Amino acid sequence: MSRELRDRIRRARRRQIGYRIEARDPLVLEVESGHSGRSHTVVPHIAYCGCEDRKYRQLPCWHLCALAIDEDVDRRTRSAVLEGIANHTTDIELEIDDLHDRIEELHDRHETWNEATDELAREAGVVREPLVTGGNIEFTPLPERRDKPRDVIARIAATAGGS
Ligand SMILES: [Zn+2]
Repeated sequence: MSRELRDRIRRARRRQIGYRIEARDPLVLEVESGHSGRSHTVVPHIAYCGCEDRKYRQLPCWHLCALAIDEDVDRRTRSAVLEGIANHTTDIELEIDDLHDRIEELHDRHETWNEATDELAREAGVVREPLVTGGNIEFTPLPERRDKPRDVIARIAATAGGS
């Protein structure tokens, strides 16, 4: 377990959380921030809390932890928060799956474009026909460019009457 999470759970065990039910369907709460006397909006079914830890740092904040484990919190709220935390975990897993698919798609696309680069360069005569040796295809290196960028720049400078 990360130190950050352990700290928040420890804090949730020690401190009682003040909260008020704002709406019931879906359940929306207003919780005391624990310092500075501010309050935050919590939406249990999506494990949302308006505090910085949850909103910006994407951590299970101490408010969510406290709402889940504080025995003075009503049972429905506690189970809604626990369920929301589990659902959010599943959402992250789905997002990871989507990213894996996207990476695979990009690999495939890269392979196609890479093949196109080789094939079209060969068709355009930029490289010679591959030599087949022992079943392995070997490419001869690209011929040297006739104009190296530095030569081109020097020539332009000379034409422009520069030093
Ligand atoms: Zn929070």
